[in-house]
Amino acid sequence: MTDALTNDYQKEQLAAYLLVRRHLRSLNSRDRSALQEAITPYLHFRRTLDRFLGRHLEAVCTAACYQDQRSACCSKDGIITFFADHVINALCSEADPLAALEARLQRANRTGKCVYLTPQGCCWTVRPLVCAMFLCDRSQATAFGESPEVIERWRAFELAAKRFRWPDRPVLFDALERIFIDAGHRSSLMYLHNSPGLLRVKQRAGLPLLSVGP
Ligand code: SF4
Ligand code: SF4
Repeated sequence: MTDALTNDYQKEQLAAYLLVRRHLRSLNSRDRSALQEAITPYLHFRRTLDRFLGRHLEAVCTAACYQDQRSACCSKDGIITFFADHVINALCSEADPLAALEARLQRANRTGKCVYLTPQGCCWTVRPLVCAMFLCDRSQATAFGESPEVIERWRAFELAAKRFRWPDRPVLFDALERIFIDAGHRSSLMYLHNSPGLLRVKQRAGLPLLSVGP
């Protein structure tokens, strides 16, 4: 049962989460496999990104934030999640982590930090892309230093991330929303179909427009 004191952010996140789970449960194995296949390049990107972050950022973040449990990256309630983030996470998660995530959205968050932050860290199996790509100035300065090679690699990751979600061409995040829209679902997190700015990007790129409202 949902705690009456959950905030609007939690309610919006929960609605998207439940919609995604309901639809995924309704799929036959062939359609689910097709979705898994569609996200495979993205998961490869995320694994490569995680290795890079582990090599260059882990020590910096541990010293700066984790040792005193500041988790400064996750100290804001209301991080942007795309609808596709939820789809990908649900496809990659076992039942228990998903149930834990659902439970966090159903009770009041009085931590002053991100609702998804647990004592063990983020409870997403595949963190939202915005989170995965966030590096504070301090971590960038410390981890990248003056190494042009590392900075160049990071720029390549930024470009790769854009290729999955920035609709100046057909992108995975748009395609995943469209699959759910075609199945009759709507979510306020479908930014690639309801954000005026992103719709303009699609229009300029000559991509088909299907606005589903906020
Ligand atoms: S990126 Fe910056 S704010 Fe985030 S955990 Fe690392 S040091 Fe802390
Ligand atoms: S979703 Fe996870 S990684 Fe992102 S801010 Fe929340 S706890 Fe941190």
